[in-house]
Amino acid sequence: MRSPVGRSAAVEGITKADTKLPVSVQGRTMAYVVTEPCFGCKYTDCVVVCPMDCFRESEQMLFIAPDECIDCDACKPECPVDAIFQEDEVPDVWQEFIALNREMSAVCPPITNRKEPLAARPSEPSGP
Ligand code: SF4
Ligand code: SF4
Repeated sequence: MRSPVGRSAAVEGITKADTKLPVSVQGRTMAYVVTEPCFGCKYTDCVVVCPMDCFRESEQMLFIAPDECIDCDACKPECPVDAIFQEDEVPDVWQEFIALNREMSAVCPPITNRKEPLAARPSEPSGP
């Protein structure tokens, strides 16, 4: 007897837990989120690997524009302080950063090139 391995059965079988497919492919759009460990660092290793130029720069940290992020995971392993999480995996204590990334990325300028870490910049004037 033939087993029912139709297209719909295959789609229904997909869960986030057992596939590496981008979440957007599974019917909803997710984003990566920059959280508290980025504060004051800005190593910007993450910026140069983003294929969508999602990163925005504030005075003290970076943010990801959630509507531009394609959930590719390229940035997360580049961050030396583990500041980047997929939205679903943001630790409870940093949940507020999900909304903060959305709010701040709407008003902060893009950053697409690597910069020296903020800590290595001696009292540099910030912004115009
Ligand atoms: S690599 Fe990490 S700490 Fe550095 S700017 Fe990117 S998110 Fe922030
Ligand atoms: S997950 Fe990919 S698209 Fe989203 S911010 Fe990171 S590198 Fe950019």
